[in-house]
Amino acid sequence: MEADPREVFVSFLRREGLHVTRARLAVLQGLAQLPKHFEAAELWGALRPRVSAATVYRTLELLERAGLVRKVEFGEAHAHYERVFGREDHGHLVCRRCGRVGEFAVGAARRAVEQAAQALGFALGEVVIQGYGLCPQCRAQEEPRV
Ligand SMILES: [Zn+2]
Ligand SMILES: [Zn+2]
Repeated sequence: MEADPREVFVSFLRREGLHVTRARLAVLQGLAQLPKHFEAAELWGALRPRVSAATVYRTLELLERAGLVRKVEFGEAHAHYERVFGREDHGHLVCRRCGRVGEFAVGAARRAVEQAAQALGFALGEVVIQGYGLCPQCRAQEEPRV
């Protein structure tokens, strides 16, 4: 069973010698209102004016270090984030042109990474499988009509 994200965050803050504040917990709760992949600005948008932008950005870093959020790189200037808890491991297919992101189950690919980790003596953490290409909409624009 997965640990409760609130407990994970609280024990992380205590371990780091940081205060468990209402604002920090509000940022964690704010994640539930966001789409699967979000930008820091969207998180602040969901929390303002209750929580300051500076607190949102700093807390997002803390959540990342606590392993509750991960940064996902979609080849765009601004970083995207996603929740790690309460979700299945999944892969991303990223459209290079419009940034659309598709998700898929990674069962077999994950097993390949696990086997490689075992063979190379790695203690495996998260697995991120990501491909880049053109989404159907962008392909339709690209391909010459016949
Ligand atoms: Zn596209
Ligand atoms: Zn995702």
